[in-house]
Amino acid sequence: MTFRECTVHCHTSLCDGKNTPAEMAAAACAAGVKVLGFSGHSYTRQDESYCMSRENTARYRQEIGALQKQYAGKLSILCGLEWDRISDEALEGWDYTIGSVHYLEGPKTGRLYPVDHTPEELSACLAEFDGDGLAMAESYFQSVAQTAESGPTILGHFDLIKKLNGQGRFFEEASPRYQRAALAALEVCFGKVAALEINTGGVARGYRQEFYPAPFLLERWQLLGGQVILTADAHTAGDLLFGFDEAAVTARAAGFHQVVVLDAAGRLRACPL
Ligand SMILES: [Zn+2]
Ligand SMILES: [Zn+2]
Repeated sequence: MTFRECTVHCHTSLCDGKNTPAEMAAAACAAGVKVLGFSGHSYTRQDESYCMSRENTARYRQEIGALQKQYAGKLSILCGLEWDRISDEALEGWDYTIGSVHYLEGPKTGRLYPVDHTPEELSACLAEFDGDGLAMAESYFQSVAQTAESGPTILGHFDLIKKLNGQGRFFEEASPRYQRAALAALEVCFGKVAALEINTGGVARGYRQEFYPAPFLLERWQLLGGQVILTADAHTAGDLLFGFDEAAVTARAAGFHQVVVLDAAGRLRACPL
């Protein structure tokens, strides 16, 4: 299998994606994909706006089960989950999981703020850190490290906190304090997850020009001996393989000679770059 034949971070209209599971599977098949992994957002009762409801989670399993039969012999389909740290959903019982942090807890009120939704919400979160963007970023990376402790298969968009930070609006990404916090979390994550994703979704949707995670983090992950997997965080059928070739170039630049893919059973397989 080549890295363009496996895409495992994919959303559908059962959460915040645009296309149905059937439309995603048809597009994957047409694009020559061999392993398609669905990773619907796990149910979070604190915010039902973007995740799969309890009912849609059951429907998700049913629809994917039916597609697995329909595409047998043509396309392997995995039933995964993008598990949020605050989700009530169990990590067990899925073909694989992507562990992600989408919320930060305000230290003053305990309120949860989405880090990737709107600048207004991130500004409200920042106010709880007395305007100290680096303290907010430090808190985010601590949450990422805690997520890895739960042992998801893949660690999702490691530095998602930078999504709305174009032009350094909330904090300076080149600052030693930011980089220290990110690197400390990365080192905690090593050995707890099977792979870190190089996620092209923020670029696909026009938020940033750099994938998650930043090159300095990928370089450290490579030195630690970690594995990476290319993912699109696809919310439409047209984005199933968005930026995979550029992500491969990014991986090579960070020193990787291989990435991993998931096989038909959801196991990790090495794949040359
Ligand atoms: Zn996510
Ligand atoms: Zn996602």
